[in-house]
Amino acid sequence: MRKILVPDYISSFACIGSECEDTCCAGWQVPVDKVTYQKYRKVTTPVLRKQLDKAVTRNRSTGSSNDAWYAKINLKDGGACPLLDTKGLCSIQSDLGASYLCNTCAVYPRYINKVGDSYEQSLTLSCPQAARIILQKVEGIGFIEQTDEITGAVVKQLSLLDQPYFWDLRIYIIELMQNRKQSIEVRLIILGLFLQRIEEIAITDYPVLLPQIMKDYMLRLDNDAFVQSLMELQPARTFQLDLVTRLLAKRADMGFGNKKYVALLQSIVEGLHLNQSLQEKTLIYQQTYETYYEPFSQEHDYILENYIVNYIFKNLMPYDKSTFQDSYMMLAIHIMLIKLHITGVASVKHELDVSDAVECIYLIGRTIEHSEQFLKFVHTNMVQAEFTTMGHMFSIIK
Ligand code: SF4
Repeated sequence: MRKILVPDYISSFACIGSECEDTCCAGWQVPVDKVTYQKYRKVTTPVLRKQLDKAVTRNRSTGSSNDAWYAKINLKDGGACPLLDTKGLCSIQSDLGASYLCNTCAVYPRYINKVGDSYEQSLTLSCPQAARIILQKVEGIGFIEQTDEITGAVVKQLSLLDQPYFWDLRIYIIELMQNRKQSIEVRLIILGLFLQRIEEIAITDYPVLLPQIMKDYMLRLDNDAFVQSLMELQPARTFQLDLVTRLLAKRADMGFGNKKYVALLQSIVEGLHLNQSLQEKTLIYQQTYETYYEPFSQEHDYILENYIVNYIFKNLMPYDKSTFQDSYMMLAIHIMLIKLHITGVASVKHELDVSDAVECIYLIGRTIEHSEQFLKFVHTNMVQAEFTTMGHMFSIIK
C-alpha cells in the first residue's frame, strides 16, 4: 500500500460496465504487455482459446522490442473489441478474472503518474462515466491523499531534481484556473501570459522573481482595466475554422475509429456549414457562438474549468512538452476544439445542455487526446502557419 495523490472525484467513479454507452477500447489499438500475452498462450478453455488466437497477435512492428507493446488486440472493423460478449462485457474478465486483463484494460480509465517518489492517479475523460463525474462537479476539483495499491503501469514520470519548481508552478496554475473572479477564458489568457513571463527568466532567478511574478499575475484578475483589454481581444474565427477543417480532414484520413464521434462530426459539419466557404461558415459560427455558446458558458464555466484542472494534473502541465509555450499551445488547441464542437452541437439542436458539453469533451478525449500522431500534426500545422505567439493562442481560445 502506498500514499497516492488523487483528485477528490476518484472515489465517486465506478465503471458502469454493460450500462456504458461505449466500451473502453472502442476505436483504439489495445496493446497487450508481454506477461499477459504469455498468460493468454496458456489458456485452455476451448471457446476462449479460439477467440484469443484470433483476436490477440504479436506486435512485430515498431513496438515489438517494447514489453508493454508485446502484442495487440485486433479490433473489429467498427472499432469494437472482439473479446466483448453479447452484453458488451469483457469475456476475459468474466471467464478468467480481472488478473488476466492486460495492463491497458486493467487500469483504464485510470492514469498513473510518478512525481519524484510519489504516485498520483487521475481519470481520463475519454471514459464517458469519468467525464460525467469530473466535468459536472459544480464546486470544482479538490485533491486528497489516499492509501491504495498501485496496480498499473506508470504513464508519465517527472524528476523533481530536474524540475525543482514543479510544485510551486502546479499549485499556482491550478489556483489561478479555479479563481472564479473572471471567466475561464480570461483566466486561461492570464495563464498564458504568466507562463510566457516565467519562461523568459533564468531558473537561477526563480527564488527571487517567481513569488512576485505569481502575485502580479494573480492580481490581474482584480484589475478591471486589464480584464477589459482582454475582453476586447478579437477571436480569430476564420483561422479557427480553417485550422479545424484541416485538422478534421487529417483525422478523417487517419480513421476516426469511434462511430459516435463520426456521427457527431457529421452533424457539426452540417450545422456549421463547414463544407461551405470560409466566409459563410465564419458567419454561422459567430452567430451560433453568441446565441448559444456564450450564455451557456456563462452559467456553466465550471465544465471547462474542471477540464483544464484535470488536464493540468494528469499531463503534469507545464512540464508535458519541451517548452512552456508548447505546453500552453496544446492546451489552447484542445480548448478551441472543445468550444467548436459544443458550438457545432448548438447549431444543430438550437439549444445546449450540460450533457451536450460532456459528450463532446468525452468524444474528443476518445478520438483526439489519445492520438500522439494527430497531436503532432496539429502542432506542426500551427508552427507552419506561424500561429505560435501568445496573441495567436488568445485568439483561438476566445
Ligand atoms: S468506458 Fe468507462 S464506464 Fe465505459 S466500460 Fe470503460 S471504464 Fe467502464
